[in-house]
This record gives sequence, structure tokens and C-alpha cells, in this order.
Amino acid sequence: MDLSALKTELDGLKIEDNPALVQQKSRDFYWYSPVLKRQLDHVTGDMIVSPKSEAEVIRVLAACHRHGVPVTPRGTGTGNYGQAMPLSGGVVLNLADMNRIVSISRGRVVCEAGAVVADIDKASREHSGQELRLHPSTASTASIGGFIAGGSGGVGSINWGGLRDFGNVIRLRVVTMEAEPRVLELTGEDLHKVTHAYGTNGIITEVEMPLTAAYDWVDVIVGFDDFAAAARYGNALACQDGILTKEIAPISAPVPHLYFKRHQKFLREGQSVCVVMVAEQSLDAFLAFTRRIGGDVVFNGATIADRKGLPPAYELAWNHTTLRALRVDPSITYLQVLYPFPNQLELANRMDRMFPGELFSHLEFVRFDGNITCFGLPLVKFTTEERLDEIMRLHEENGCPIFNAHRYTLEEGGMKQTDDIQLAFKREADPQGLLNPGKMIAWENPDYDYKSGRTFLFKGLQQAR
Ligand SMILES: Cc1cc2nc3c(=O)[nH]c(=O)nc-3n(C[C@H](O)[C@H](O)[C@H](O)COP(=O)(O)OP(=O)(O)OC[C@H]3O[C@@H](n4cnc5c(N)ncnc54)[C@H](O)[C@@H]3O)c2cc1C
Repeated sequence: MDLSALKTELDGLKIEDNPALVQQKSRDFYWYSPVLKRQLDHVTGDMIVSPKSEAEVIRVLAACHRHGVPVTPRGTGTGNYGQAMPLSGGVVLNLADMNRIVSISRGRVVCEAGAVVADIDKASREHSGQELRLHPSTASTASIGGFIAGGSGGVGSINWGGLRDFGNVIRLRVVTMEAEPRVLELTGEDLHKVTHAYGTNGIITEVEMPLTAAYDWVDVIVGFDDFAAAARYGNALACQDGILTKEIAPISAPVPHLYFKRHQKFLREGQSVCVVMVAEQSLDAFLAFTRRIGGDVVFNGATIADRKGLPPAYELAWNHTTLRALRVDPSITYLQVLYPFPNQLELANRMDRMFPGELFSHLEFVRFDGNITCFGLPLVKFTTEERLDEIMRLHEENGCPIFNAHRYTLEEGGMKQTDDIQLAFKREADPQGLLNPGKMIAWENPDYDYKSGRTFLFKGLQQAR
């Protein structure tokens, strides 16, 4: 890698090569996982380049291609599997300055990839009472490009499913990593080439997302004596077609009282809860439904006069649950699980009972292929990597697929098999394999045996310096 020649060639662009600052921007939330923390703690890029336009992205990619320098794209670095970490060094391509909202119309927003999700929602609401269909719980900091390339779903998935479902992304503009980078417009089936591909096969520069009607969402927390009751309630609420919700997350005791510090005064020790976002016009119906089931409304955002210092309900949910627990107890880590329809409740309860004192359940209800089911982000008291693997194996043996949050590759974190569409597109868009190296096993080692039970070790992972 001739980095000084590259730097000369990129003269005029915003470049940072102060090692401390480069290391800062070479990290994401990989430390959520004790396994990734051990493997990736030393990883750092060689320089940060922050383009301000698509033309500058093209300039960077062409120059890096010429000099054989790896490029790892970065939104705001909130991914939690080391997705945005430059395993072989090189350029960290920081897209945060490409944050323009280009246009808003009925049902659509077009913006640059670095636009922050909450800013898109705010602009859409002000423009025409609209909002994004779904957003990660990191909406206030995450970029839309990072969400599409690294995320999967979140707040709103109870109505709209996940990011990879047809219709939840309309169009992406993507720049390829070639001697003469091309700009491609992807729609329909082609979107699957780059959604949740960690930027391994193209840099997203512009996105077009569907919008839906924005409502005043009311945060509510409903308390229960045990987790099974909270889970049953969450499932029943999710099936109420007439009550418009945006978030339904049952969370087991002792998590809420122990870790939701800002809300602690509303919660009882030993109480399991369901965290809900409900549309203001559905609130009366929601309260009547909750009374009928026997849930105890311990927090109602519509009647709390002083909300100062209280985070929005969605910042208690998704991966924020783990973050809040980690702030109190650094030995906590987590799993990502699917409890498949139609047995989601039976499976979630079975797994909840299997690891007393070691695993604390956290469900996220979603609409998945037209059915209501739930994902789980249970918290785990970490002891050893072997035990963590065993807990995941027991989930899989019980019919609950694991999306391994302790691996940095696409395949191990996903369906444990080659994604032929993404691989074929990488051959076309990044023939030298310079984009975010080490994240796609199918590219690095086509003969890799996913059933071997061993962790994939990327040969190009830089050594601790
Ligand atoms: C507390 C917490 C809560 C979270 N909640 C959720 C949640 O509810 N739902 C969810 O899906 N995820 C969640 N995540 C994970 C993460 O926040 C989301 O994936 C987020 O949207 C990532 O956005 P980002 O801008 O930080 O992306 P980054 O972390 O910067 O990047 C994510 C991936 O996308 C690639 N990338 C970034 N920009 C581009 C681009 N323009 N072109 C190509 N590739 C690109 C990066 O290389 C990386 O592989 C959470 C994480 C944390 C720490």
C-alpha cells in the first residue's frame, strides 16, 4: 500500500491521518461482544477520507483501486458486529458529510447516504406529516446508508417487517470499486445485492426510501408479574389490527428495574414489562385492551408532565436494552434469536426458563412475511466463550435460529450460507476485493465449510501492533 502516493493523489479532499483520530473512527460498537472485543480491539485504518459528494467518492475509489488500498465505508459507526471496522487497514470512507436531504414527496424521500435517520424523519414530518416506515433505535445518530448496509429492522417493524423485505427500500445509488468506478441505480430485486452487505460490494451514495403517515407516538410501559404474562400480552397486542402501534417489546425482570435507570422510579423490582409505542388516536382503545388483559400501566407518556431526562421508549428497546444493561454491568452480553411463527410464545418461554439467572429475555414483536412473530435480543451474563456458544447451540437445537452477534462476517452473523446474489455482485463491482475486506466468507474462502462449527478467521486481519 503506497499511502503517501494515495494521499498526494487525493489532495483537496478532507483527509485525517492522526492515529488517535483514525482509531476512533475505525471503531463501532463491536465491544458489545466480548468475543469481537478480543479479536478486533487493535484494528485501525490508516486514514479517514470524508467525501462531500458522489464525485469525490468516485475519486477516492478510483485512486484506492489504483494503489490497491482497502476501503471500508462508515456511516456513524453504531453497528455492533465490527461491520465498519477496517480489518486490513487502509481508508475508512466516512460518509457523514454526505447528509443532504434531496427531496420529499408523497410516500418518498430521497437523501444522501450519510443523512441521519432522525433528521430525515424530522424533515419529512415538517414537510408533509410523513415519517420513515422503520428506523433503528439509534435513529438519533445512525446514518440511513449504514442502516441499509448494516442494519435489519427496528422500530416500525411491527407493521412493516424488515429492511430486506420488498418495498422497504425504493432505490439505491451505488458506486463500484473499479479502475473507472461506475454509478449504478438499483431497484426491485437488485436491491438485495447491497442491502445488509456491510458495504462489501459497493458504496451507497444516495437512497430513496418509502414514507408513511406520521402520528404522535405515545410511549407506554406496561408492568407484569412475570415474563410469560408480558410476552403473552405483547403477542396479543401485536395481533390487535385496530390498534396502531410502532413498537412492542416484552422485557423480563430483573432488567427493567435494574438497568432502566432513568425510568426506575416508575418500575418495581422483580417486574417484567412490555415497552410500547402507540399512536395517540389509538391510546383509549389501547388502554381498554390493556385493562381487559390485566396489564398494569406503570408509565404513560401522555400523562407524564415532566419528561425531562427521560429517553424515548424506543431507546429502551432493540439494542438499547443491551446498552443500558452494559452501562451498569459490563459482564452482560446478548444474543440475536428468531422464535419462528406460529410457535413464538412457546419457544420464547421455553428458552426463557432454560437458563435461570444467566439469560434474561427481551422480545421484539415484528410482522414477518405477513405473520406476527418475535425476534429476541436476550441479555446473557457472560462467563466464557464456550458457554456462550453452548447457549446459542441450545437455542438452535430447540428450533430458534441464531443470528450470531459475536462474529464479524456476513455469513456467520446471518444464515450461515453463501449469499449468491451478493457474491456475484461483488465479483462485478469489486473485482480486486478491496471493499471492507474480511467480512464476506464466500469471497475470502469459497470452500469454507459452514457446518465445521469453527469460527472463520480472516487471514488478512491486521495483527496487533
Ligand atoms: C444501541 C444500539 C441500538 C441499535 N439498534 C438497532 C436497531 O434497532 N435495528 C438495527 O437494524 N440495528 C440496530 N443497531 C445497529 C446499528 O445501529 C444500525 O445498524 C445502524 O443503522 C447503523 O448505522 P450507522 O450509520 O452507524 O452504520 P455504520 O455502523 O457506520 O455501518 C454499518 C455497516 O454499513 C456499512 N456502510 C455504512 N455506510 C455505508 C454506505 N454509504 N455504503 C455502503 N456501506 C455502508 C459499513 O461499512 C458497515 O458495514 C443498533 C446498535 C446499537 C449500538
